Amino acid sequence: MRTVKAIGAVNATDPLVPLTIERREVGPHDVLIDIDYAGICHSDIHTIRGDWGPITYPQVVGHEIVGRVAQIGREVTKHQVGDVVGVGCQSNSCRTCAQCEQGHDQYCLNGNTQTYNGIDPADGTITQGGYSQAVVTNEDFVLAIPAGLDPDKTAPLLCAGITTYSPLKHWNAGPGTRVGVVGMGGLGHMGVKLAAALGADVTVLSRGTNKRDDALAFGATRYVDTTNAAAMGEIAGSLDLIINTVAAGLDITTYLGLLNVDGALVNVGAPAEPFSVPAFSLIPRRRTLAGSTTGGIAEIQEMLDFCAELGIHPETELVSAEEVNDAWERVLSADVRYRFVIDTHTL
Ligand code: NAP
Ligand code: ZN
Ligand code: ZN
Repeated sequence: MRTVKAIGAVNATDPLVPLTIERREVGPHDVLIDIDYAGICHSDIHTIRGDWGPITYPQVVGHEIVGRVAQIGREVTKHQVGDVVGVGCQSNSCRTCAQCEQGHDQYCLNGNTQTYNGIDPADGTITQGGYSQAVVTNEDFVLAIPAGLDPDKTAPLLCAGITTYSPLKHWNAGPGTRVGVVGMGGLGHMGVKLAAALGADVTVLSRGTNKRDDALAFGATRYVDTTNAAAMGEIAGSLDLIINTVAAGLDITTYLGLLNVDGALVNVGAPAEPFSVPAFSLIPRRRTLAGSTTGGIAEIQEMLDFCAELGIHPETELVSAEEVNDAWERVLSADVRYRFVIDTHTL
């Protein structure tokens, strides 16, 4: 066991506080990672605030982790000391179910191990996330960060990047596809960059006009202010695929109305409130309402390599440990351009 510094929550409402947490011994297939950077995902906030149900405290969150390998277990073959590596949302899975066998460990039928607020199969403890100095992770769930990516800007790819890349690929976004991205925060801005890089025609749907210039700079061809009913009406029935990244409840009927025949609205935003979906928002145009979570380890590696090759980086703002509580408030008020990353050396 080793003790490392972290910041975490002691209950659902108070600010995060400095904590020390224990990391398990490095097992034969484990990698000890000295964490350099940890992204702040809105899921971190939903989890601590209890939006998805009660959790056990203290809890350290963070599932966008980038660091360097400090030690490897005696049977580790995939990583070496000194490698720049990453850890995303899942840190283990059963490896044997039909989904794991196809590389879809994010849909492990036996329940994968979340990087935080999960049960660690190695020792039965509650997993603690990346807002900390170091983590011990099974080698199969450690990603290689390609040389072409800047480590300080890369962490958000491990969740925001893959969570938008995976549905874009699954629903075949590419040349000739008209993709809408609803909400331009951490996930949304990566959705825009990745959909544009895949060759799709991208429409950003965001509240107000503040993010218009950024959206166009990230590769969108069109920007629609969702508070402008006339502008929304003009694009009715015009999109093939919509990725909804909004962290709050949404009038889903309005967005389904933007889809063409056979269009799909894929929900990745995870608000606590249920959506209301009238049957006739789907039936007349054979529309699909779907959901998607992160991506498998192999797909995350593919996405990292794709971003390195094309020079795609998230837009980040580096914050110190002391600034994390303020950063959370800014995420909650949609005042983030477009992902906070914690410099974990400041812990
Ligand atoms: P974020 O950075 O806070 O972005 C969310 C965006 O949603 C905001 O920038 C804003 O966009 C819009 N929004 C926020 N509050 C709103 C409201 N009250 N009404 C309408 N729009 C609102 O969050 P994120 O980290 O990208 O995460 C987004 C959601 O995805 C969260 O619910 C998170 O838990 C979920 N998530 C899911 C997965 C998965 O596996 N499916 C993975 C990661 C995250 P505009 O200002 O542009 O309108
Ligand atoms: Zn996340
Ligand atoms: Zn499985």
